[in-house]
Amino acid sequence: MTTTESISRPATLPPADEMYAAILRRDPDYDGVFFLAVTTTGIVCRPTCPARKPKAENIEYFASVRDALFAGYRPCRRCRPLEPAGTPPEWLRPVLERVEADPEARITDADLRRDGVEPARVRRWFVANHGITFHAYQRARRLGLALGRVRLGDDVTAAAYAHGFESLSGFREAFRRVFDIAPGSAKHVAAPILVTRILTPLGPMVAGANDDGIALLEFAERRRLERQVRTVSKRLETTCTPGDHEWLRRLEAQLAEYFDGKRTTFDLPLVLPGTDFQRDVWAELRDIASGETRSYDAIARAIGRPKAVRAVGRANGDNRVAILVPCHRVIGADGKLTGYGGGLWRKQALLELEARTERPART
Ligand SMILES: [Zn+2]
Repeated sequence: MTTTESISRPATLPPADEMYAAILRRDPDYDGVFFLAVTTTGIVCRPTCPARKPKAENIEYFASVRDALFAGYRPCRRCRPLEPAGTPPEWLRPVLERVEADPEARITDADLRRDGVEPARVRRWFVANHGITFHAYQRARRLGLALGRVRLGDDVTAAAYAHGFESLSGFREAFRRVFDIAPGSAKHVAAPILVTRILTPLGPMVAGANDDGIALLEFAERRRLERQVRTVSKRLETTCTPGDHEWLRRLEAQLAEYFDGKRTTFDLPLVLPGTDFQRDVWAELRDIASGETRSYDAIARAIGRPKAVRAVGRANGDNRVAILVPCHRVIGADGKLTGYGGGLWRKQALLELEARTERPART
């Protein structure tokens, strides 16, 4: 079992002890450099927050408020991490308070106007300060609620369960709202992809399957998750709906063995709709054994498209079934980890786990 101590900090942030020291002295130089989320309270703060200092082991660090929101945290009411440092816009306050009072409610442009706030102004402020629209912000809050933030092995699990949405039924309900699912909609022809949440030591994953096999497995806080869900739905001409399936139960059991260091391969059917090129790349990825890595160049050569290294990188990133299609085993030619949709720290943790896991003797 991996420990969360060594893997919970993304590579792009300052060292954890440096960040913690900055928090203790409320160092304004670090404002905007990182945000701290407190696992016991579910709140994300600036390093300069006047609130009582959390214990180091209860902090999860983020490079942006946005990432913290997608991971299920809510903005602190005291240090207001959503506002640019030093310039709290009074006019926006009622809007933010309205979101926080009921994060599941959808605030429409008409609602904003009724509150005397011009929707275009709200949109501009969010785009300028956070690179997302107000509607995307609301979606992020709902998605965060839906996905929860429980980690197996954390001693905060009990606190997290008090959150309400940590229950599976709460997750399903929230997922349905987040993804605007219209049950029984006539345009859907194939059986729906049933989607559930699977807890892992690296954070919650969202998994989807139909009778044909596993169609989706993503780390829950992944920014692109929403798009991935829509892509699967579109490609299979079906919808994603919260539910359970035999394949999902087997997946959960096999993932538990994998994270326990007792499994190196998965025997589950996969549903991988994509272009011929993507399918070639994904097939090649599945040939990389646990404990091994390969470069993008090597994959490009193996599929007979030696010049298509960048396209291989894109197809790798478009993989919708993490771990089972082991896109984390592809690294740069120089040995650097390069990117990973679920975050570089997860890629590193998966590779370390696989390096430690004993492979069965070849027969
Ligand atoms: Zn705060």
